[in-house]
Amino acid sequence: MIPDNAAHELAGCLERLRWIFWGYKTGGILDWEYSPPKSDEEVRAPMAAQTVEKLSRISSELNGCTRCRLHSGRTNLVFGEGSAKSGLVFVGEGPGFDEDRQGRPFVGRAGKLLDKMILAIGFERKEVYICNVVKCRPPENRAPQPDETAACSPYLFRQIEAVSPRVICALGLSAAQTLLGRTRPISQLRGTVQFWRGIPLICTYHPAYLLRSPSQKAAAWQDLKEVIKLLGT
Ligand code: SF4
Repeated sequence: MIPDNAAHELAGCLERLRWIFWGYKTGGILDWEYSPPKSDEEVRAPMAAQTVEKLSRISSELNGCTRCRLHSGRTNLVFGEGSAKSGLVFVGEGPGFDEDRQGRPFVGRAGKLLDKMILAIGFERKEVYICNVVKCRPPENRAPQPDETAACSPYLFRQIEAVSPRVICALGLSAAQTLLGRTRPISQLRGTVQFWRGIPLICTYHPAYLLRSPSQKAAAWQDLKEVIKLLGT
């Protein structure tokens, strides 16, 4: 005979299994091996022709850009890359040493962690779009100054509009404050769904900060779970 509380017990078991699964996924952020893309073609997954056209127009407007002082220290302008396929855009702060050398966003140690975070939410790097608030490397990897952000952010905004994501994930304080136009600390901006021009926006810690403060990875995973929920994946 089936006991009266069988359904309740079963629901409890399923819930516990769900949390074990999430725990495994969280561990995935910490431990998964990074597999680099096999080729440049793989990095550039197909996008709608109209999106590609809009992005290349913005990119060509930035060619040789000297709108702010950051141009003087750059090796390469780092415009951004990826695909609109997932409906997800990650926005970081600005290029670091490796990004400046290669002309691609998030390719250093922090980039490898971001790749793991992307894998943990069920995508490959080539399926999301990745860009930064400023396109040229700030000296000594300092945060962009307000006038530099003001000079470069209109291009970021146009970039996001061109990709037209379903969800934006701001990585770190500069990205969160630039998109939200607020000066509150990241700890106050994360944890709830914000909006940028009507698009849901999740703020989380920058992967470079997570490398310095691994204890915050669990909090970042909570934010990524919100991203999954909003994408409905
Ligand atoms: Fe131009 Fe942006 Fe580079 Fe400044 S950071 S020089 S605005 S591309």
